[in-house]
Amino acid sequence: MALFDPKAKIISGYERSIDDRTASIRKYYDEIGKLYYDQYKDMNVDNTKDINTRCEAITRLSNEIEDYKLKILFERGLKKCPNCGTENSLEYGFCFKCGSKFDEDSANAPKTSVIDEPASEPAKEETPDEEQKSEEAPAEEEKKDEE
Ligand SMILES: [Zn+2]
Repeated sequence: MALFDPKAKIISGYERSIDDRTASIRKYYDEIGKLYYDQYKDMNVDNTKDINTRCEAITRLSNEIEDYKLKILFERGLKKCPNCGTENSLEYGFCFKCGSKFDEDSANAPKTSVIDEPASEPAKEETPDEEQKSEEAPAEEEKKDEE
């Protein structure tokens, strides 16, 4: 372990973060399936809000995963062409595949929305539950009344 390239350690931290988020995304998919089924089974159940919260969480986690992938690329001395997605060496000014010009700061560490916390627990922060009455409640529009 001690002989490990420190970059390998950083990269494996990022990979673990990706795995964490991937697991959370699967969990949310499961929950969405259940919520949706409950709604299907009983027409009076409206789980729209809970489903939406989870969809938003999935989108956020997916974006974070993309960020981590960029970080991993950077650690490996690579960057992705914004035009064609080809991996280029960090010092390249132009994409070797499509010729697109890279930004001047493209050789710097990628700006990401995720904190450098490899072992964070993304599932906790966004646990959507009933008492999440954040903005105005969209009560009326989606109301299902039985005639
Ligand atoms: Zn390209």
